Amino acid sequence: MKRIVIKVGTSNLSDGESIKVEAIERIAKCIAKLLEKFEIILVTSGAVASGYTKLRLDKSKIACKQALASIGQPLLLETYRKVFENYGILNAQILLCGHDFDSRSCTQNAKDTIEVLLSNKVLPIINENDALATAELKFGDNDRLSAHVAYYFEADLLVILSDIDGYFDKNPHKYPDAKLIGSIASIPAEKLETNYDPHGHFATGGIVTKLIAADFLIKRGKRMFLCNGEKLEMLEKFLIEDIQESGTIFGENK
Ligand code: ADP
Repeated sequence: MKRIVIKVGTSNLSDGESIKVEAIERIAKCIAKLLEKFEIILVTSGAVASGYTKLRLDKSKIACKQALASIGQPLLLETYRKVFENYGILNAQILLCGHDFDSRSCTQNAKDTIEVLLSNKVLPIINENDALATAELKFGDNDRLSAHVAYYFEADLLVILSDIDGYFDKNPHKYPDAKLIGSIASIPAEKLETNYDPHGHFATGGIVTKLIAADFLIKRGKRMFLCNGEKLEMLEKFLIEDIQESGTIFGENK
């Protein structure tokens, strides 16, 4: 069975003020369908936004963001739990730091856990352990973490859900004539250095961290699909029927 990592960004879950339960409901509906055909690992952001609904700490300070994530993580997972329960799907939480992947034994332990969860049809939900690590809070909103998860836990594909239809030849929020690139086999080095341009209030990554994630996977023979989290029916069509109506596939077409 093919294994897919799906990364949900803060912009997919939050309107800047609160976590949208409807968004989690749409994601759960989609994942329930995909589970008939694939093993799924979910990487989710949204802990800081979730914590902010309870306590208005200053998000410009990194320690406050860490505290907000600590408050928000259980709230976020509680929402996921309630929503997925309606589909008979049991969730598990795994919190990881980037450097966990530097240790072979840590990676292997986490992978062993994931294998048991997946073979028992449990949905692993992964986030950065923000109280200990700050990399994804500062830059990337889990784009890099999800690429590591996809590689080290041997997924066939990473799906990044964004607020945009895919990768364009230029920023579509600035240039109305920007064209969607359906597939790209490799990322030109200069694209990995461009200043990032996060669109949403909570977003920290912008397109560059997505390109870095894609580059990491392409160089290791894996693929990534970037698509709009508001258009999950297109993701289903792509994964289940192999019909691509939108989104960008990074890596060689197989
Ligand atoms: P998310 O919060 O969904 O992870 P980000 O806001 O961090 O997404 O990054 C996506 C944003 O990157 C888009 O909404 C867009 O404003 C910006 N962007 C800049 N250049 C491009 C490009 N070439 N193609 C697509 N998006 C781009």
